[in-house]
Amino acid sequence: MSDWNTRTKLVHGGTRRSQYNEVSEAIFLTQGFVYETAAQAEARFVEAGPDEFIYARYGNPTVAMFEDRIAALEGAEDAFATASGMAAVNGALCSLLKAGDHVVAARALFGSCLYILENVLRGFGVEVSFVDGTDLEQWRAAVREDTSVVFFESMSNPTLELIDIEGVAEIAHEVGATVVVDNVFSTPVFSRAVAQGADVIIYSATKHIDGQGRTLGGVVLGRREYIRTVLEPYMKHTGGSLSPFNAWVMLKGMETIDLRVRAQTESAQAIAEALEGHDALARVRYPGLKSHPQSALVARQLGGKGGTVMSLEVKGGKEAAFRFLDALQVVVISNNLGDAKSIATHPATTTHQRLSDGQKELLGITPGLVRLSVGLEDAGDLLNDIQRALEAARD
Ligand SMILES: *Cc1c(COP(=O)(O)O)cnc(C)c1O
Repeated sequence: MSDWNTRTKLVHGGTRRSQYNEVSEAIFLTQGFVYETAAQAEARFVEAGPDEFIYARYGNPTVAMFEDRIAALEGAEDAFATASGMAAVNGALCSLLKAGDHVVAARALFGSCLYILENVLRGFGVEVSFVDGTDLEQWRAAVREDTSVVFFESMSNPTLELIDIEGVAEIAHEVGATVVVDNVFSTPVFSRAVAQGADVIIYSATKHIDGQGRTLGGVVLGRREYIRTVLEPYMKHTGGSLSPFNAWVMLKGMETIDLRVRAQTESAQAIAEALEGHDALARVRYPGLKSHPQSALVARQLGGKGGTVMSLEVKGGKEAAFRFLDALQVVVISNNLGDAKSIATHPATTTHQRLSDGQKELLGITPGLVRLSVGLEDAGDLLNDIQRALEAARD
């Protein structure tokens, strides 16, 4: 498998066939596994081989197929699948940290990630410092000899700022800290995070990996020793494992992820270019635009690919943003992203509602900001829909 190219790995990687030699991967919807003898059970509890299973909370053949396939795409040694993206973030951080440890995190974070750092970790005696993740000087000033983990989203939601994985990893590795990256917005298709120095990479599989809005899931990727001896014991004893059925949905999603994400990115690029300079918009933020303030980093870190999400700053604040959203006919109002269906979100009143006005201002979440996740519809239809809705957004 190691000499296969990406598209081949995505279709065949990790496949395990039963005695029936099925073509499409089987859903092993079983909690447990029968042992031939008591001695075999005893031996498996001492040490289970890669294709020996005990209990679905520890591992399952369908889940293992998904783990191997996403690890092959990311270029990581191993992966552990989790019940959701948040189970992955929580597991990755809690498995690495204990009371008295120090963490440095970027402050532009998904609300639930912020909750884990501010409430869960601080509550258990972990010291957490926040920095502006785009500023390497702030990372350099905050990281100390006793820092054990740095954590950030490589592309921030919803303002689409990049954090320089290579730059932060260099600073963190000087003191021996583990670099944990939530890589959802970069997508596993464009990610080169392993080569760039990330030690642990997290995806919410709910987003592009499913890509069709059906199930929750997540995954943690990294070196085999970390995944199997640090993360797996934490996950299997605390219960955040992925169900076999949801793993199967994700596994089938992997077959088409490269095609979907590239097509959605191509549409997003075309739509962002067409909307830039529109007089009903104060700003179009998209990492693939030449006007993105970090376009050199987008080129270096993501091969110039801006991903599937953009943010539109509608002139006229919340009222105009709501008129725009309500006038959309193809794009739906919801809060997921990476889906085949294009989705518009008003972060200030939904996903980021709980932040204080000061925090929103600091993170650039203004009343006129609309996040647009570009789906698989015809790009011309999407652009017409958005342009028509922008006319309706005017006073
Ligand atoms: C959605 C998301 C998560 C959480 O994933 P769930 O599958 O909803 O638990 C974490 N981080 C980022 C950046 C996300 O976009």
